[in-house]
Amino acid sequence: MISIHLHFIIGIYHIYDLICSIWSSKAGMLTADMWRQWMANPSLCWGVGPVAVVATAFIITALPLEWLIRQPFMQKYLITYGVDSKKNDGIGRPAAIRRTQEKVPLTEQVKGTALTLAGPAAIVGGVISALAIPFVITYVADQPILPSLGSFLFSTVAMKLIDDFGLYLGHRVQHEVPFLWKHFHSHHHKLTTPTPVSTLYIDATDAMLQGSLPIIAALFFMQPHPFTAYFHIATRIGENAVNHSGLECWWIDVLTLKVLPFRASAGHHDSHHRFSNYSGNAKNFGEMFVIWDWIFGSLRSKTVGNSNHSEAKKVK
Ligand SMILES: [Zn+2]
Ligand SMILES: [Zn+2]
Repeated sequence: MISIHLHFIIGIYHIYDLICSIWSSKAGMLTADMWRQWMANPSLCWGVGPVAVVATAFIITALPLEWLIRQPFMQKYLITYGVDSKKNDGIGRPAAIRRTQEKVPLTEQVKGTALTLAGPAAIVGGVISALAIPFVITYVADQPILPSLGSFLFSTVAMKLIDDFGLYLGHRVQHEVPFLWKHFHSHHHKLTTPTPVSTLYIDATDAMLQGSLPIIAALFFMQPHPFTAYFHIATRIGENAVNHSGLECWWIDVLTLKVLPFRASAGHHDSHHRFSNYSGNAKNFGEMFVIWDWIFGSLRSKTVGNSNHSEAKKVK
C-alpha cells in the first residue's frame, strides 16, 4: 500500500515537472502571461473563473459518465440494491433509473442542471463571487504563475476536508430542518436513482448551502493560489458527478482516488438517495470523505471505507 502511495506521489511530481517545462516554452510563456493577467483581474479570476470551471468540469465528467452507464461492459459495475441487475428482472438499476425518469423526466433533469450551471443563480453567484472572494482571499501582488508542489498538495487536501465538512453541514441541516427540506433539498431527492447529468438538478439555495458556501469557506481558510483553487473546484464538481453515476468500478475509483483511506465511495451518496429520501435522521451526508458521517454518527455502514454499498446491497 505504501509503495502504491509512493508511486502516486512520484507520478504527481512528474506531471508537475511536465507542466513547468511546458510553461517555459514560447507558447507556454504567452499562456503564462495571459494567465498572469487573468489572475490580476478579480472579476475574471474569481467571477468568471469559478463559474466557467464548474461548467467545464461538469460537462467533461458527467457526459462521458452518462455514456458509460449505458454501455453493456459497464453494467456489472452499476450499483443495485438487493437484486442483481444482470438478471434483467425489471428491478435492476436500469429499471430503477427508468422509474425515477418517469417521475422526473430526463429532459426536466437536464433543464434543472443547465439552470444551475448557467441560469440566473449561476450569474448572480459569479458576480457575488467576483465581489466577495477578493475579500475572502488576500490579494497577493506578483504571485508566482504556479503554486509550489508542496503548497498545492497541502492546500488541496485541506480544502477537500474543509469543503466536505461544509457540505456535510449544509446538507445535514436541510434534512434536519423540515422547512429547508420541504422548500429546498427535497427537490434534489426526487431523484431516488440519480444519473450523472442530474447531479446539479438542485434548488439554488441548496446549491449555495452544499456548494458555494463550503467552497468559499475552503478558500478563506486555505488562501490558495488560483490554480489550486480551480483544481479543487473542478475535481469537486467532477466527484459530485461520479457520486451520482451509480458506478462502483475499480478504475474509476483509482482515477478519482476513491481508493485512498477515508474516501467515500460512489455508493455512499447513491445509498443516501436510495435510503435517506426524507427529512430527519438521514444518513451519509458527506460526499468526498466518510470521516464526517463517522464522527457525527450518520454513517450508514458500520465500517469506515468503501463498504457502504455492500451493506446497502443486502437491503431488500
Ligand atoms: Zn440529501
Ligand atoms: Zn445527490
